Amino acid sequence: MAKVITWQVKPNFVKQYQAGYPLIRRDTIAQGADSAEEGSIVHLQDEQGSFIAKGYCGMQNKGIGWVLTNKEGEKIDFLFFKQKILAAINKRQGFYHDENTDAFRIFNGEGDGIGGLQIDYYAGFYLISWYSEGIFRFKDQVIRVLDELGDYRGIYEKKRFDTKGSYIEDDDFVKGERGEFPLLVMENGIHYAVYLNDGAMTGIFLDQREVRKAIRDKYAKGKHVLNTFSYTGAFSVAAALGGAEKTTSVDLAKRSKNKTIEQFSVNGIDFEQQDIHVMDVFDYFKYARRKGLSFDMVVLDPPSFARSKKRTFSTAKDYPALIEDALSVTANGMLVISTNNASFGMKKLKSFVDKGFRDAGASFHILEQFSLPPDFQTSKDYPPSNYLKVLVVKRTS
Ligand code: SAH
Repeated sequence: MAKVITWQVKPNFVKQYQAGYPLIRRDTIAQGADSAEEGSIVHLQDEQGSFIAKGYCGMQNKGIGWVLTNKEGEKIDFLFFKQKILAAINKRQGFYHDENTDAFRIFNGEGDGIGGLQIDYYAGFYLISWYSEGIFRFKDQVIRVLDELGDYRGIYEKKRFDTKGSYIEDDDFVKGERGEFPLLVMENGIHYAVYLNDGAMTGIFLDQREVRKAIRDKYAKGKHVLNTFSYTGAFSVAAALGGAEKTTSVDLAKRSKNKTIEQFSVNGIDFEQQDIHVMDVFDYFKYARRKGLSFDMVVLDPPSFARSKKRTFSTAKDYPALIEDALSVTANGMLVISTNNASFGMKKLKSFVDKGFRDAGASFHILEQFSLPPDFQTSKDYPPSNYLKVLVVKRTS
């Protein structure tokens, strides 16, 4: 049984928690937070000792725990986890029945009622991400729910809670059958090679599914596509399958090249007809300008924050300059402008687009915009959970 502790909420924040705000932030707690023990059940109270909400203690860089319920009578036990996970799976029935897609998220943290816990499904395998030691203490309950559901091949996990909230290197196998990697998954008919036991990332970011589909179905035909920050080249593959004349993928991680070759190959695309550069994107832009290269479409999907030997890049500050760079290598093409930075919203991204185009002396119109797909449920009470913003923009002059 988890220990129960009480935290007293500062008066200014009581309303917010009563209204459903799910993240327990240290700065909102007046008393008790010193006795924070990972995985204990936390009762939030006001100064008078009246009940506000119930949650668990788990240290993440964002907070010190998550609210699980505002009902005083609700118990946080196996049944609680079971109900939340079953409800989440019910919402994804469309995905389970989709013949062309077998990789999707079945449980998305606070969006499905339990912050700090994510579960993805990859062709019969579950991948659980634990974002704190605290939620990891509930591992037995979560695994038991998956066991009761039955019918899976194996379970893997990512422990994303070392000191800076990053991934702890480990054998990530939990139980069931050990997969053979790469595991081939399918997304809207596109194949992707994924690795569930090879570091923090799997080779594919499932949240960009709708963007990849749009690139393949609507935008790529006949184009020369530059895919920057390309990682394993997932956007390049979608573009090539959509009839792109050619794709150019640029990422500075050395392993990105082999991974991109692999993603092309599992789709029957001759990688030798595509360009793949292991290079700093900013150097690539300089090189492309020098060579007078021009692209019909540029995909920008930078990490929120990156530090390389030469520079630091932060989307919240440097996105306009990145757009300006991209415009220097596309005459009248389009840009796919993406960010997963949770600290700003779509309005701000649009203001970055305005600024980037203005600084380049160019104009544009927005063709389409994307946010998270439905398997990435968000919490309306916690705006950062709606982190993904993607704009498809056509340069008009
Ligand atoms: N667009 C990818 C995901 C990008 S993840 C997809 O859809 O799958 C971010 C990638 O940016 C990482 O692979 C990282 O190696 C790369 N990266 C970070 N800084 C970079 C830089 N300055 N130049 C090139 N690549 C960079």
